[in-house]
Amino acid sequence: MTTLSGKTALVTGSTSGIGLGIALSLAKAGANLILNGFGDASRVIAEVEQLNNKSGGKVGHHPADVSDPAQIADMIEYAEREFGGVDILVNNAGIQHVASVEDFPVERWDSIMAINLSSVFHSTRLSLPGMRSKGWGRIINIASVHGQVGSVGKAAYVAAKHGVIGLTKVVGLETATTNVTCNAICPGWVLTPLVQKQIDDRAATGIDPQQAQHDLLAEKQPSLEFVTPPQLGELVLFLCSEAGSQVRGAAWNIDGGWLAQ
Ligand code: NAD
Repeated sequence: MTTLSGKTALVTGSTSGIGLGIALSLAKAGANLILNGFGDASRVIAEVEQLNNKSGGKVGHHPADVSDPAQIADMIEYAEREFGGVDILVNNAGIQHVASVEDFPVERWDSIMAINLSSVFHSTRLSLPGMRSKGWGRIINIASVHGQVGSVGKAAYVAAKHGVIGLTKVVGLETATTNVTCNAICPGWVLTPLVQKQIDDRAATGIDPQQAQHDLLAEKQPSLEFVTPPQLGELVLFLCSEAGSQVRGAAWNIDGGWLAQ
């Protein structure tokens, strides 16, 4: 098992869903954890503390709204001040909005670009100098299958996630001769609040909720099963391990076969 004792991981959007699953895996592996995200973080902090008690790690939460570069800068300063910097940066925070291009609300486009794409640029540019000076680092961007293919109604999300994969390649190249790596993970459907809302929207048209969930999977994900946050957490641990050290600039699918079609 990968030991990350002494390393500090910052996971954006870790009060829910995938980010929370990844934070729990990193804490189990002994990393100090900086949580981020909206909502009541106390339950999540307690959950991570319980794991950290066993491994001796430390946990904190920073409430930065990652759509604001100044708040991201404040979060990275907090990490430097309280934890000695960020060794593992998981850019996970993200939102979705579904509408056709001509009906897409301009302010939703702007916030998806800010949260799903620009935040990755800001947290990366601000964390990289510390990683370079310590001689080790991992930047892991939670992109999506929608970083590689499109789906109707998801113009902003698909554009932002394609951008994340492009940015990942450039950072992967710019760090290629160092012990810092940068990669993207591309999940298919994961049953989190972000996806539950899409199932609820289908069910609101009168379809049985179980049927709505089945239809959502059947349209895109050949396994007909959701990817789980713990599975994503294990992939993050692999990318943090020595065995993962030559994976650079990759966009790694974990999607029940979605992109094989
Ligand atoms: P979620 O809604 O369960 O969690 C999103 C997290 O981001 C929450 O903690 C929320 O508080 C936080 N967040 C939202 N806006 C923020 C902001 N402005 N500043 C700080 N934090 C903010 O969603 P999820 O499904 O766990 O998605 C996490 C990531 O995984 C997203 O980037 C999403 O695009 C990606 N993803 C999800 C799926 C899926 O099927 N669920 C598939 C592929 C990729």
